Amino acid sequence: MFDIIVIGCGFAGAVAARKFAEEKNKKVLLLEKRSHIAGNMYEDMDINGIYVHRYGPHIFHTNLDYVFEYLKRFSDWFSYEHRVLGRIDGQLVPIPFNFTSIEKLFSEEKADIIKKRLIEIFLDRQVISVMEIMNNSDEIIKELGQYIFEKVFINYTAKQWGIPIEQVDGSVISRVPVVLGYDDRYFQDKIQVMPKYGYTKLFEKILNHPNITIKLNCNAAKKIKIIDKNVYFDGEIYRKPIIYTGAVDDLLNYKYGELPYRSLDLVFERYDVTNFQPCAVVNYPNEEDYTRITEFKYLTGQVVNGKTTILKEYPLHYNIMAEKGNIPYYPIINERNLKRYEMYKADIERTGNIFLCGRLAEYKYYNMDAVVDRAIKIAEEVDV
Ligand code: UDP
Repeated sequence: MFDIIVIGCGFAGAVAARKFAEEKNKKVLLLEKRSHIAGNMYEDMDINGIYVHRYGPHIFHTNLDYVFEYLKRFSDWFSYEHRVLGRIDGQLVPIPFNFTSIEKLFSEEKADIIKKRLIEIFLDRQVISVMEIMNNSDEIIKELGQYIFEKVFINYTAKQWGIPIEQVDGSVISRVPVVLGYDDRYFQDKIQVMPKYGYTKLFEKILNHPNITIKLNCNAAKKIKIIDKNVYFDGEIYRKPIIYTGAVDDLLNYKYGELPYRSLDLVFERYDVTNFQPCAVVNYPNEEDYTRITEFKYLTGQVVNGKTTILKEYPLHYNIMAEKGNIPYYPIINERNLKRYEMYKADIERTGNIFLCGRLAEYKYYNMDAVVDRAIKIAEEVDV
């Protein structure tokens, strides 16, 4: 009855499903474990009348014009530039650390020397990694790098990943650079937008196609068995394509051991004030057990007087059996885990008809735009 099965209804699954349904005119069965669509982008309105992202803040930014062009078909978008402050030595300073952060934390004289030296050494560069600053041979620059590393990165990273910063992959730390100037936006991408009516509505539109049948509350990984190269679905041999966007260790019954993830305990709080904090997100690198507080009305642009809703993120180890921390949010990138992932991937590739797509299935710290890019390409490549 169906030409293709897509498993998981986040960006990877939803975009792939739409592409097969619309552009290849294929009948798609989309299976989702949870009771709702939109994966971790899912949001709904809380009793304060504010839209909250139930799985943590999702801010869309990209340099891939074609990805945004594709998504634009399914929603209006509004321009949204994300700003983050970090609490450092009792002050709220811009993160990524920039010239304003330097001016707030150092004397005027010292700040002037540092800024001048940064411009002399790094010339026209706009952003730079903290590692590069720390490894510079100039004493003043090196000292600044060590200061930022210590005040912004070491403790936040240890809290977020549950391991010392030395054990965290460099690519993770470099997601947040140091800005050589006064730009105080969190992202540097040319397109920074949010869906006007929210992500859930965006997903509803993506999935609204007569060739797509959605089944919620369906744990598809448990329906699939892979024996040698053969795929069985509900006990029967299955040779049509499957796009799988869930955790790959789960799909193969953890045969090579678990792929570790970091999870979060997300604690929402409501306050009878118009604003809890001065911007969308405040990071707490060195204090508190949570890493950051998000105040949602900044993300949605809603005007709600006298009420606000915030989210505190407490990092946890992922454990599917636990009461908290049972959602895998972040793959933990290191040599051992990637090796294990490659073993799973090789087994899946041997089947020839299961294709992995997305943050969980590919064990990659993808941003949303990169997942959409990937889903579009996979849908174009896979023959149905
Ligand atoms: N990070 C940090 N201090 C900060 C912000 C980020 O040390 O104030 C590090 C931390 O290791 C984090 C990584 O940079 O995991 C990536 O941060 P990002 O904000 O991209 O994380 P996400 O929004 O994906 O949770």
